[in-house]
Amino acid sequence: MARRKIVAGNWKMNMTPSEAVKLVEELKPLVASDDVDVVYCVPAIDIVPVVEAVKGSNVKIGAENFYIEDKGAFTGEISAPMLKDAGVEYIVIGHSERRDIFGENDILINAKVKKAFEAGLKPILCCGESLELRKKGTYLDWIKRQITWDLTGVTADQVKNLVIAYEPIWAIGTGETASSDQAEEVCKAIRENISEMYDAATAEAVRIQYGGSVNAGNAAELFAKPNIDGGLVGGASLKADFGKIVNYK
Ligand code: PEP
Repeated sequence: MARRKIVAGNWKMNMTPSEAVKLVEELKPLVASDDVDVVYCVPAIDIVPVVEAVKGSNVKIGAENFYIEDKGAFTGEISAPMLKDAGVEYIVIGHSERRDIFGENDILINAKVKKAFEAGLKPILCCGESLELRKKGTYLDWIKRQITWDLTGVTADQVKNLVIAYEPIWAIGTGETASSDQAEEVCKAIRENISEMYDAATAEAVRIQYGGSVNAGNAAELFAKPNIDGGLVGGASLKADFGKIVNYK
């Protein structure tokens, strides 16, 4: 069975609540699609108004971060059950900005993946190599290690509902995109890794996105590759281009 494509916008720390609602209204006619899952991963403060604003459309909402405990004395944090109750369906985990700027390691990321599933959220698990590892040629080993750590104790049934985003760090926000062949090489290797860790059916079901300067001009070529099931889109998700990426065909 063909996997359904999924195109998710990662808004990062952009859009005040009122700007967010305006953007949703502007994008609404542009992102309509019957055969692509469309997700906006938005800042925590935008979740409630954006969930309201997308009602009646095909758009699903994702969050960008949460903490692994359900409740308690964790000032400033938001839990997975809170996100679920607010209408969130997807959650970005392991983004390189959280790994590099906020020091999140694979032990925490693994705990987040398990907690997200427990709360009924679908993780978009990010992985990817630095420019240094790309140049060294050890990037496939690095990504395999990330995936193996991040999915420790996660069941095959859960992985079937997982989205993995391959995001080479050197291509995020830089305007430099991995070529479609470079992206396909890694997405294929991730699928093979899932097959080794689980089984062929699980590897066939898991959706693997490419992320890193995806735009209206390169989405069609990237998404045509057999192991690329859509994209995680940063900068271009904040403008009309996002509609062209969703309707890339
Ligand atoms: C991202 O934020 O995950 C990303 C890929 O950003 P950009 O599309 O701007 O490179």
